[in-house]
Amino acid sequence: MGNVTGFMEYERVEEGYQPVPQRVKNYHEFVIGLREEEAKVQTARCMDCGTPFCNSGCPVNNIIPDFNDLVYRADWKNAFHVLDSTNNFPEFTGRICPAPCEAACVLNVNDDPVGIKSIEHAIIDRAWAAGWVVPRPPKVSTGKSVAVVGSGPAGLAAAQQLARAGHRVTVFEKNDRIGGLLRYGIPDFKMEKSHIDRRIAQMEAEGVRFRTGVLVASMPDGSRVANWATEQIAADELLAAFDAVVLSGGAEQSRDLPVPGRDLDGVHFAMEFLPQQNKINAGDKVERQLRADGKHVIVIGGGDTGSDCVGTSNRHGAKSVTQFELLPMPPEHEYKPLVWPYWPTKLRTSSSHEEGCEREFAIATKEFIGGEGDQKGQVKALKSVRVEWQGGKMVEVAGSEQILPAELVLLAMGFVSPVGSILDAFGVAKDARGNAQASTEAVGGYRTNVDKVFVAGDMRRGQSLVVWAIREGRQAARAIDEYLMGETILPV
Ligand SMILES: Cc1cc2nc3c(=O)[nH]c(=O)nc-3n(C[C@H](O)[C@H](O)[C@H](O)COP(=O)(O)OP(=O)(O)OC[C@H]3O[C@@H](n4cnc5c(N)ncnc54)[C@H](O)[C@@H]3O)c2cc1C
Ligand code: SF4
Repeated sequence: MGNVTGFMEYERVEEGYQPVPQRVKNYHEFVIGLREEEAKVQTARCMDCGTPFCNSGCPVNNIIPDFNDLVYRADWKNAFHVLDSTNNFPEFTGRICPAPCEAACVLNVNDDPVGIKSIEHAIIDRAWAAGWVVPRPPKVSTGKSVAVVGSGPAGLAAAQQLARAGHRVTVFEKNDRIGGLLRYGIPDFKMEKSHIDRRIAQMEAEGVRFRTGVLVASMPDGSRVANWATEQIAADELLAAFDAVVLSGGAEQSRDLPVPGRDLDGVHFAMEFLPQQNKINAGDKVERQLRADGKHVIVIGGGDTGSDCVGTSNRHGAKSVTQFELLPMPPEHEYKPLVWPYWPTKLRTSSSHEEGCEREFAIATKEFIGGEGDQKGQVKALKSVRVEWQGGKMVEVAGSEQILPAELVLLAMGFVSPVGSILDAFGVAKDARGNAQASTEAVGGYRTNVDKVFVAGDMRRGQSLVVWAIREGRQAARAIDEYLMGETILPV
């Protein structure tokens, strides 16, 4: 523990943001990481708790008190080694994790938590700049081969762990670039894509083979899920060619809103809108880009994806941006004695909200209304109604209907399940929500009902977080290593 009284002496230090007028002009990251002195002050607040709740609150169980202490002592290289021992991609989580570790921090009981995420961010950025993040190819090859289907954080973490254990790993991705939602979904202003490219180069040097544009199994007809595959490979072919398969295809099926007018032009899934901007930022041409410029935009869904639509619409130059949430507005502050160390429900205002957005709570959409004349077929307005929650049931408030101008409507109401066809092609059993069924037990976990077939990430747990996907990828890799070798050298 660097400074025994630090938690009484210092306030929490926040990372800086570029001012709104500057940052909305482009799609670059705008968070200003901690300077060395600030990081030291931040780590001085850590109490090195005997029972570090931060560590169990973190899905990858980062050894937070240890790296805090090392940063306090300016031993950044060892701080990096501690961080790297539990998290394959801290530069992703250091940027976009909501930081459940901070909610669990013991200081959060009656004070502001240690800014763990900002310390993680500082350590990993320094490690990359100093050249400490290097490929770690295996010394011995096992001669076993593993196919990873899907290149999001779950697939990438699994692939890296398996390659380091000496297996021959091939990652199959239906889209044209590696990264899953990190690449096509999460906006560049939250995480620039060069972070993924650096990791791909590291993993290639560790022996991982990446095959983009390859759809494993099939996509249902008329699916609106992004699929830029130019090749297809059948489940049977994969099973014959590899000793084990990890399905990490995410939970890509967006939740729809089948109200009158849903088919109008201008009403789209968030996941039709956001990836287009990622592509354009990568230098690609996109035919018929969905643009928000000069439009009244309504984003339906109050979560992270909705917030990313808000930030992107403001960068396009929307006339107005309104975000709808069905649930009532949560309290501004949580009642800590009741919720700590768990993730609290409270009003969360993202950096995108700060850039300009009307937030409406307890509101439902009844209808999308089209234009007339040459605007026929194009959404022009939205009919909403206020709702109340009575005994867990949603009830419309009589007489509260309202018509709002809406020229672009983005549906960001979450994801219902993985695309079922890939699971069906492998014969993998599903749970009641349509996710692939597998437990997370230390022994025998992540295995499906089909021999050789494992599953990890959103495809197993349903829509979740990057940090959970990394955890599942790591743990599935361990389970596969054990399955292939009879024992495993990979960490829990
Ligand atoms: C807009 C948006 C913003 C988000 N923001 C955050 C955030 O700020 N912080 C956070 O922690 N989480 C965030 N999330 C959630 C997070 O991105 C996901 O939980 C995480 O990416 C899941 O990882 P995964 O590897 O399981 O799947 P995914 O990232 O979904 O990757 C799955 C990959 O599999 C590929 N695939 C699927 N089927 C096939 C097939 N048959 N053949 C070949 N390839 C296939 C897909 O193309 C995709 O690339 C966000 C999600 C969205 C949609
Ligand atoms: S819970 Fe908070 S104060 Fe305690 S060890 Fe973890 S980061 Fe430090």
